[in-house]
Amino acid sequence: APQPDPPYLSGLNPPQREAVLTTEGPVLVLAGAGTGKTAALTARLAHLVHTRRAWPSEILAVTFTNKAAREMKERVGRLVGAVVEGMPWLGTFHAIGAKMLRRHAELVGLQSNFTILDTDDQLRLLKQLITAADIDEKRWPARSLAGLIDRWKNRGWTPDQIDAAESEAYANGKGAALYAAYQARLKALNACDFGDLLLHMLVILRTHRDVLDQYQQRFKYVLVDEYQDTNQAQYLWLRLLAQERKNICCVGDDDQSIYGWRGAEVGNILRFEKDFPGAKIIRLEQNYRSTPHILAAASGVIANNAGRLGKTLWTEHDAGDKVQVIGVWDGPEEARRIGEEIESAQRRGTRLDGVAILVRAQFQTRELEDRFIAIGLPYRIVGGFRFYERAEIRDALAYLRLIAQPADDLAFERIVNTPKRGLGDKAIAKIHGFARATGVPLLSAAAQMLDTDELTPQARRSLGNFVGDVARWRGQLDALPHPELARLVLDESGYTAMLQADRSAESAGRLENLTELARAMEEYETLGAFLEHVSLVMDNDAAADTDKVTIMTIHAAKGLEFDTVFLAGWEEGVFPSQRALDEGGNASLEEERRLAYVAITRARRRCVILHAANRRIYGQWTSSIPSRFVGELPDAHVDQETTMTGGESLWRANWSERADPFADVARGNTRGPGWQRAMSGGFERTAPRVVEARASAISLGNRGRSDVELGQRVFHSKFGYGTIAEIEGNKLEIDFEHAGRKRVLDSFVSLA
Ligand code: ATP
Ligand code: MG
Repeated sequence: APQPDPPYLSGLNPPQREAVLTTEGPVLVLAGAGTGKTAALTARLAHLVHTRRAWPSEILAVTFTNKAAREMKERVGRLVGAVVEGMPWLGTFHAIGAKMLRRHAELVGLQSNFTILDTDDQLRLLKQLITAADIDEKRWPARSLAGLIDRWKNRGWTPDQIDAAESEAYANGKGAALYAAYQARLKALNACDFGDLLLHMLVILRTHRDVLDQYQQRFKYVLVDEYQDTNQAQYLWLRLLAQERKNICCVGDDDQSIYGWRGAEVGNILRFEKDFPGAKIIRLEQNYRSTPHILAAASGVIANNAGRLGKTLWTEHDAGDKVQVIGVWDGPEEARRIGEEIESAQRRGTRLDGVAILVRAQFQTRELEDRFIAIGLPYRIVGGFRFYERAEIRDALAYLRLIAQPADDLAFERIVNTPKRGLGDKAIAKIHGFARATGVPLLSAAAQMLDTDELTPQARRSLGNFVGDVARWRGQLDALPHPELARLVLDESGYTAMLQADRSAESAGRLENLTELARAMEEYETLGAFLEHVSLVMDNDAAADTDKVTIMTIHAAKGLEFDTVFLAGWEEGVFPSQRALDEGGNASLEEERRLAYVAITRARRRCVILHAANRRIYGQWTSSIPSRFVGELPDAHVDQETTMTGGESLWRANWSERADPFADVARGNTRGPGWQRAMSGGFERTAPRVVEARASAISLGNRGRSDVELGQRVFHSKFGYGTIAEIEGNKLEIDFEHAGRKRVLDSFVSLA
């Protein structure tokens, strides 16, 4: 009797099976998104282990992210039982490279405990070398040199392999010499950067036959996911390791190559057949992930790229909904709309874990976060800190909190010596002791201690300045618009100067974040209202393991899938990015288009694309036009919706008068012409509702209130009627009759 299929084979289609069962010889699986490439690769791994063709430790399996590596390990574990306890060589190129290099570090002059530098350290080091070489860093930024060295390393080039033409790209031909100096410096520090993890190994494998033999013998099988995004160095490294046994299986999709800017070369796909003659090429054509509309939309967009390998995709899924395209007025409305869509889907039973919002650039996340906080929608940000958790934002907020609320001891502690004011632990401990003994806040304890002898004269002087500064800033609280005050405080406290002096790669980003913070403040009428908003943001942290929506960049979403996907900011200049547009030429534009293809194909059931007519980028309003990729979506598979029908020309006219009603309303700028117009009922659409909510907030004032009590019935303009269940300062827990328990700001409810 025929043996039943092992579990990892059941459910695979014939070409997938072929990819699993063709264990010997080179195999290339070339197929579109969602066709089960990763699934097949995982099954292949399970098969190799299950049939004892190799021990887990004899298989080299490369994934693109650590998360993907973990998932693959788990899936194989489930498929073949607990056999795969240790899979030491399953991981990303970086992780595997680091592990190998630690074993052979001495061969390139390092010790096995070498440190791996992050980009910050890398730039600091390069700056020192640039200065030492008497090069004007303003003219030849360290960043460019870092980029250049990265590119060389991605190609597998050591300093002696850099020719004059390449070297010319930095400081009139000093590039190669600086690269050599940098490598020497790293060696002296017993350190390497990310590029070195593979480059050093490449050098070792090329120059030490015995080491190469050892690995060629060990790795009976080599498996590679997301093959289209391997760079030259990675390719050469794989080729060396697999050259002996030639049991290498790579899976990929040329249409999803999105790391060209990091040196990935789609050409590696074409080289594969040449380097591994007789390779079996397997194509998967059935897509198991998405509905036909989603698939057709993605295919329609990517069809605009030239020079594709080309492939067919089909699916058995029901047609489902068309891809929804929504045009909105501006960024905040986009966030509002996404929030509403998610909430209504949630009422229909959608789980938040199955929902993702994908953005092209990090800066797009803040508006979404703010909105989700305001409506109490749990979310997680993948890859990157949530905006209000960044150190510089927390520091800035601490200053503002202390100004708004001098009794905020946590804020005091955070910034009393940031930037450094020469206040030691001893001085701070004394202030603490005094505050405890007298029962006053730290700031007033500090003030009272200024004319005592408890502190050293030096500590008294700097503490005196600090206390004086805070008092002066408080004095300006009502005189200055609060975003202005924030800028002033950051300048006068020396915080901005501290970041400027830092000159590391990250400090530029930190300064940008502070600008973004000031911009976020503009949307709130008072400093108090803004700080309340932020404290609600922080609260969201508490909900650790609840169901959450995911916010991430498209790059980070590669290989993943979600039932519902929102694609935000499909506008020229955001997506495709301004950088791609500025560079001109087709290469970067085509890479953006592949990114669009990746984005759409993450969706299983529902895909919603949004674009806004006005967007504020780093504090600058720009009117924007929909992304060309929106235009490339095939009509038959798209439902267009624009909330600007009819009124559009009017909106634009207003815009040119700088009478943007939404911006005025959102900022509570009752003096703005847009506000006047919105209040006089000159606008339809969503304006009246927003006005209502804000108007009630304004009439009540934003500073908290004393007329609410437990059990009281209240009305909230968004959630309707409810009963107060808990009062915590200015936050209320309310059991709404229809919306359930929500946490809201007291200034947003009225007594019913
Ligand atoms: P991407 O190009 O986005 O990385 P992929 O080709 O790697 O996609 P997978 O992630 O492996 O595709 O599979 C997509 C979805 O299809 C997954 O949910 C997977 O479980 C499912 N799937 C794969 N193969 C089959 C199959 N033979 N039958 C049913 N479902 C399948
Ligand atoms: Mg995959």
